Amino acid sequence: MGEIKAARGIELRCKGWRQEALLRMLENVLENGENQDELIVYAALGKAARDWGSYHAIVKTLKELNDDETMVIQSGKPIGVFKTHLFAPLVIMANCNVVGKWATSDNFYEMQEKGLICWGGLTAGAWQYIGSQGVIQGTYEIFSRIAEKHFNSNLSGKFILTAGLGGMGGAQPLAGFMAKAAILCVEVNEERIDKRIEVGYLQKKATDLSEALEWIAQAKENNESVSIGLLGNASEIYPEILSRGIIPDIVTDQTSAHDLVYGYVPGGYTLEDVKVVRVENQKKLEADARASIATEVRAILEFKRQGSIVFDNGNNIRTQAFEGGVTDAFDIDIFTEAYLRPLFSRAIGPFRWVALTGNAEDIKKIDNYILEEFKDNETAVNWINLANKYVPFEGLPARIGWFGHGERTKIALAVNQMVKDGTLSGPIAFSRDHLDAGAMTHPNIMTENMKDGSDAISDWPLINAMLHCSSMADLVVIHSGGGGYMGYMTSSGVTLVADGSEEAAMRLKHTLDNDTGLGVLRYADAGYEDALDEVEKKGIKRIEVQNVQGASK
Ligand code: NAD
Repeated sequence: MGEIKAARGIELRCKGWRQEALLRMLENVLENGENQDELIVYAALGKAARDWGSYHAIVKTLKELNDDETMVIQSGKPIGVFKTHLFAPLVIMANCNVVGKWATSDNFYEMQEKGLICWGGLTAGAWQYIGSQGVIQGTYEIFSRIAEKHFNSNLSGKFILTAGLGGMGGAQPLAGFMAKAAILCVEVNEERIDKRIEVGYLQKKATDLSEALEWIAQAKENNESVSIGLLGNASEIYPEILSRGIIPDIVTDQTSAHDLVYGYVPGGYTLEDVKVVRVENQKKLEADARASIATEVRAILEFKRQGSIVFDNGNNIRTQAFEGGVTDAFDIDIFTEAYLRPLFSRAIGPFRWVALTGNAEDIKKIDNYILEEFKDNETAVNWINLANKYVPFEGLPARIGWFGHGERTKIALAVNQMVKDGTLSGPIAFSRDHLDAGAMTHPNIMTENMKDGSDAISDWPLINAMLHCSSMADLVVIHSGGGGYMGYMTSSGVTLVADGSEEAAMRLKHTLDNDTGLGVLRYADAGYEDALDEVEKKGIKRIEVQNVQGASK
């Protein structure tokens, strides 16, 4: 852990709670991050600010910022403060957006080296990361959908093989455990294994593959859930498991395969080797990482042929393998299309809230409110109960909950009221992952195989961000992946502060309704039945455009 921790309590360092909230969110992503010295939060190079100079300038500006001003941030560096008005966002950001043919990994690394840009991940640069919990429900929902589709809704006695225990991947062992499976997580960096054990996301560490497989076999036999970390390289361990004739029920991977230089560690390399070769011969490191990814993906495809359910969990591993010569890499399903699209079509996605005073009781009170008010929502009740029991807090206490149109607004307004009447100890920040219905275009992750072929159209997240500004959100951001670096993607993010005021209620209502409303319309426009049904059910104002032949008269 580094030195920066989010402030707790009710004392303000800024001119109001809105600014203080954003400052605590920034500190919180660093408190929870993987490598604070380098401002890295997760996803290999996902940073909270471009450099330390930028970080300190952001902090100073947030402390001085008036309610009617807007700070502008470009790829993690604060650029200026503009006079706006009381209902404008306090912070707007654009991170890592690069045009057309210049959007390549090589250009990204070069621009980063020159200090011109930084990769903001999705929630790192937007100060919305809440630790591994941020993706845990998503991972749990994927496992649950797989269970429904392939295993009679029951993962007891089933073996999940995965890799990567970093900022996001670290959610996998707990998600697998909560889904009642026996999950083995291969990780090349022992510190990451120890960290996940320390924070309560992983149960135990095996000394070698044989011991790990023995534990898995025992758990399968006794229908026990277990999560096991194994020090090793996925490109070596996956083929080894295959050669021992063991076929897991589910196989995936959440290493930082999107990044061949700072992310995926090639087979045969120590962590020290990576540091040396990165400086001496970056191209060799990239080629070796790609070759190892290809080996790993070939093993995943063989597992599939022998009966495993396999999926890509959003780390671009198929694209890297394809470029490394694995022509059938895309036979592996992408998790969004395979399992989550029906939820996104109704704009049900990863909503989250953070107790800004640091009081865990606030989260418990919101949990209780949800259990009471959403009694009939089986997914929500199941999740909140599980989260309450198993998910430890990291940094400021926070909760993730997959909710849809109208539901998010209902929760946020009730919480704002609880802040106002003193039920909660202080304000709550609301946010969401960028991987949300109207918020992301990524033709190999979020929008692969859209029904109408609109996979690569990035108008949607851009409109989403503009709509957030029009709806008076407190922080609005547009991210891209630097092109080739994180694949070709654009996403938008938003943060809102429920400080108990009437203005906050207005911001929350408009922003949350419009965010999920646009999400439903994005899928309705693509022709998804669930979305069209949601438009009807929730009375979302959709403009019908008639197909008119010829010139209009
Ligand atoms: P991270 O950089 O924090 O962690 C990656 C981990 O993989 C590290 O601990 C690293 O040591 C390990 N690793 C690297 N090469 C390995 C190898 N060959 N074998 C075994 N372990 C290896 O990244 P993260 O935040 O955990 O994210 C992982 C990936 O998931 C990224 O590509 C990210 O973009 C993606 N992601 C997906 C979603 C989603 O919604 N599905 C959300 C966020 C991030």
